This record gives sequence, C-alpha cells and structure tokens, in this order.
Amino acid sequence: MGIFEASDRLGGQLNLASKSVTRKQVWGIADWLINEVVHLGVDVRLNSYVEAEDVFAEKPDAVIVATGGWPEMPDMKGKDLLTTSWEVLGGEARLTGEVLVFDEVVDHPAAVCAEQLATSGCSVTLVTPDRAVAHDLGPTNSSVVLKALAEQKLKLECFHELISVEPKGNRKVATLRHVLTDERTESVVDHVVIENGTRPMDDIYLALKEYSRNQGQLDHEAMIAGQNPFVEKNKSGQFNLARVGDAISSRNIHAAIYDALRACKDI
Ligand SMILES: Cc1cc2nc3c(=O)[nH]c(=O)nc-3n(C[C@H](O)[C@H](O)[C@H](O)COP(=O)(O)OP(=O)(O)OC[C@H]3O[C@@H](n4cnc5c(N)ncnc54)[C@H](O)[C@@H]3O)c2cc1C
Repeated sequence: MGIFEASDRLGGQLNLASKSVTRKQVWGIADWLINEVVHLGVDVRLNSYVEAEDVFAEKPDAVIVATGGWPEMPDMKGKDLLTTSWEVLGGEARLTGEVLVFDEVVDHPAAVCAEQLATSGCSVTLVTPDRAVAHDLGPTNSSVVLKALAEQKLKLECFHELISVEPKGNRKVATLRHVLTDERTESVVDHVVIENGTRPMDDIYLALKEYSRNQGQLDHEAMIAGQNPFVEKNKSGQFNLARVGDAISSRNIHAAIYDALRACKDI
C-alpha cells in the first residue's frame, strides 16, 4: 500500500488549519493519522505529484483519490487583486496594514486566517454576508474562536458581500453591498483576502474513471450498510476507483475521514 503526496509533507489542508493559536490543536488529527501510517509500514512517497501514467505503472488493485481542493475564486471585478486565505496561511503572502477578510463560507478557514493576520500585526476587518461571523462553527469552537478574534480587536461586519475590488495607488478599494438593503459602501484597505471554499482537484479521478472496474462509481446503499461499494461495470477495468474528501466537494475533516472509512473498508 502506498501514499503519494505532491508536497513535501502529509496533512493536506491541516497544515493551514493549524496555523492560528486557537486552532493549532487540530493538527493532532493529522499527527495521529501520520503515526498510524508509519506504524503500519505504508510506503509514503512525498514530493510525488501523481498523474494517470504514474498510477498505471504501480498496477494497483484499488486507487483512492484524496487530492482535496484548491481555493475557489469568485467571478468579480478585480478578482486578480485578491489574496486567498491559503496564500496567507501558507506564507506566500506576508501582509501588513489594514486587511479586509471576506468570508463567504463562515466556517473555520476565514477565522483562522483573520486570527493569524491580527496576531502578526495587521488591522483586520472580517466581513460576511451571513448574519453572524463563523456561523457554521459549533458552540464549543465558536466561543473560543470568537473570544480570540475579539481579543485581537478585529472589526466584524455581517450582512455584507464583496462585489468588486479596484486599485487605488498601492491600496485597494473594496466595494461592499448590504445584502438586506442593497446599500453600497466602499472600504479603502491595503489588502483584500478571500475565503470562498475550494473547488475539487478531481482531474486525476476523471482521467482514471474509464480505466477502472467500477468506472469510479460507488454503490451508496452498500457503503452505508458497511458492505463492499465497488460494483463491476467495466470487465476490462484494471482497478477499483474511489474519491474521498474535498476531491468530491468543499467540506471538512469529518467528511473526508468518513468518506475514506466507508469507501476503503474492504480494501
Ligand atoms: C484554514 C483552514 C482551516 C480548516 N479548519 C477545519 C476545521 O477546524 N475542521 C474541519 O473539519 N475542517 C477544517 N478545514 C477543512 C479541512 O481541512 C478539509 O476539508 C480537509 O483537509 C479535506 O481533506 P482531504 O484529504 O480531502 O484534502 P486535503 O486536506 O486538501 O489534502 C489533499 C492532499 O492531496 C495532495 N495532492 C493533490 N493533488 C495531488 C496529486 N495529483 N498527486 C499527489 N498528491 C496530490 C495535496 O498536496 C494535499 O496534501 C479547514 C481548512 C482550512 C484551509
């Protein structure tokens, strides 16, 4: 059994998720899984970006595509002026000054990013079209996260969506729309950061489908019943194929682990 990982470390998005002070313990999930992989003697190949030919060369019985996603960019005027939360948390964008963080998802990523920016000295305004920031966090997490954001003196702005960004000298003008009144306001800041969820990185899954025995399809009723979900649809197929986690759609750790548990039970 082998794991191929494009980057130089395992953990995927948990490397970003664990960047803020309040969420660093989420790395414990990756830490435990990585230790299990080592303990079980799995062949881990880092710095290995996999394409279809690499899969064929391995002659596998089963292929699980867990390639996650990539930041989804909104289609708006000035989208090239946006910085993604991943660029901030991954260290590619080192921001200073006044930063507007626009959160379309209202889950952990924008809160982690806003906290990280504030901790590093930025003056941060967290904007969401929802009626509450970090709305999708459960009560236990939200109380800890919101307290941390309040202590960092973040400004919070609900009911507003970002509709465009324009340059103004070396700064940016973010135009916001009140989602209830349609009123437009402008905010001049040094940077505009976007958290808009992820788009599945499913190229390899789509490329492998026609070569698989099950054509990439899982029997969901069998999966829910804890039975083998791979149904033969292509007699000349070379392997069973499944995809899990954010490679299906932008979700969370629970979904990724549960997908994998159900798809891989009989492998
Ligand atoms: C800042 C942030 C905070 C978050 N906080 C939480 C939280 O608190 N709770 C929660 O439940 N969820 C959280 N999430 C979401 C959660 O991290 C993701 O839903 C989860 O990591 C998805 O797991 P995955 O294995 O499907 O994909 P990923 O974690 O994206 O991992 C995919 C891996 O595949 C590798 N890869 C991609 N293509 C290839 C290829 N062709 N060949 C080889 N390797 C490849 C990538 O390098 C990556 O390491 C957060 C996300 C972010 C960004």
